[in-house]
Amino acid sequence: MARTASEIVIDQHLCKGCHICIAVCPHKVFVKADKVDNRGFYLPVVEDLEACKVCHLCEMECPDFAIKVIEAEDGHS
Ligand code: SF4
Ligand code: SF4
Repeated sequence: MARTASEIVIDQHLCKGCHICIAVCPHKVFVKADKVDNRGFYLPVVEDLEACKVCHLCEMECPDFAIKVIEAEDGHS
């Protein structure tokens, strides 16, 4: 059964808006926010949770350990 994510949590305090996660995700799950946050960063936004295959690449590549991908236990989100 295909792996799916039930949630992707981006820690708004740890994230520095570097967009590495957007670049490395092979399934284009993230997009850049269209507005800056109160620190002036364009944070990533989960645009397509269903496209996530739980490869954990974004978690591994995030330099600020700001992403947590939570796998759906039943294979469905
Ligand atoms: S890689 Fe990490 S720090 Fe960079 S934008 Fe993504 S969540 Fe934020
Ligand atoms: S776990 Fe993989 S597929 Fe899911 S958002 Fe991260 S890089 Fe993309």
